[in-house]
Amino acid sequence: MDEKLEAVFWNVQQRNPGEVEFIQSVKEVLASIGPVLAKYPKFAEQKIIERICEPERQIIFRVPWQDDRGEVQINRGYRVQFNSALGPYKGGLRFHPSVNLSIIKFLGFEQTFKNALTGMPIGGGKGGSDFDPKGRSDDEVMRFCQSFMTELSRHLGEYTDVPAGDIGVGKREIGYLFGQYKRISNRYESGVLTGKGLSFGGALVRTEATGYGLGYFVREMLAARGESFEGKTCVVSGAGNVAIYAIEKVEQLGGRVVACSDSCGVIIDEQGIDLPTLKQIKEVDRAPIEKYTEIRKKSQYQRGGNLWNIKCDVALPCATQNELTGRDASTLIRNGCQVVAEGANMPTTPEGIKRFIDAGVAYAPGKAANAGGVATSALEMQQNASRDAWSFEFTDRKLAQIMKDIHDRCLETADEFGVPGNYALGANIEGFMRVAEAMQSLGLI
Ligand code: GLU
Repeated sequence: MDEKLEAVFWNVQQRNPGEVEFIQSVKEVLASIGPVLAKYPKFAEQKIIERICEPERQIIFRVPWQDDRGEVQINRGYRVQFNSALGPYKGGLRFHPSVNLSIIKFLGFEQTFKNALTGMPIGGGKGGSDFDPKGRSDDEVMRFCQSFMTELSRHLGEYTDVPAGDIGVGKREIGYLFGQYKRISNRYESGVLTGKGLSFGGALVRTEATGYGLGYFVREMLAARGESFEGKTCVVSGAGNVAIYAIEKVEQLGGRVVACSDSCGVIIDEQGIDLPTLKQIKEVDRAPIEKYTEIRKKSQYQRGGNLWNIKCDVALPCATQNELTGRDASTLIRNGCQVVAEGANMPTTPEGIKRFIDAGVAYAPGKAANAGGVATSALEMQQNASRDAWSFEFTDRKLAQIMKDIHDRCLETADEFGVPGNYALGANIEGFMRVAEAMQSLGLI
């Protein structure tokens, strides 16, 4: 790392003690942008980097609610409004017991550059709670969402901050959150949340967008190597919204997904994961994927298994942060994996990234490869602003084009800065430059 950046990083560590994930994400970006500072010294003089690493606003609040037995429960809510140089804060809400300030800050920091890469007018933010929706009844989820929104609503607005889903937050939760926002504000402000149901202002393709976008991005990565999905074996970690629609798109584009996973184990289906079965289990029954083997008799379940041990050409981590370690990366490389693209946010550890890049594996970071979700959220905002509703095909074509543009910009930027083929550096530099230029134009804010 460049000496000036080293000093900034040291300061970030001092100011945010114990925030392991946040510090990891900052380090990854700062380690990439040395060449930018050499070319544009103004960014350092104006302390743009110091400012970018400090969220504009952080909100932490109590979320009291009553469970079905009448017992009072207390959770903690967060919204980190990271950067609004390019547009209103934009980013999902995560409901998961692991959620803490460090995780929300790392997600908000990543989101800022991801959103910049989409080329759309959206700033970066993230929020959530340590509430665990798993095993909770619909009524409990509703009461939690209502309490959460009662506090959060005062910080939102279609021109201020526009949340969406993330892990543990899907259409059901967005519906309850929107209902409560509408009630408190007495406004039908469709553009205040994205990922809405189709009956109340949602957009076609938003459900599929992160996974589909990842598929389109990988298609471009393969094309850049003179290849295609045809005949390629893939593994996809996770079995949530991102994973399901990544599997669907890979299969549509001619690839074969032979394995996926959830927090308990791994499913291997050599004939290709059967999507209707997976969707039924995960989207309707909300059950563990172990159930898959009851329906697809030739498939195999490995309780506590490691998905990255399975031989593949393309690996798509779509579960959660730091799920793919240096050791996993070495196993994938040994087994001939050529392409890795992240559907989750920061799923590969720094050691894993290093090993992929050193081995010449085409590695695409989440902030580029999974930007299709938030890009389609921005398309949903456009539709809400114009009170319009676009067709599936029209929106899907736009998504595919956005992913191609992000892909091409990452490669062009990597070329321009002397690191051809390095998507990680390309994405960091390009994302940083877009935010930094806007911040420079807006003055000292
Ligand atoms: N949570 C998603 C992400 O990580 C989507 C955010 C959004 O649509 O605002 O990008």
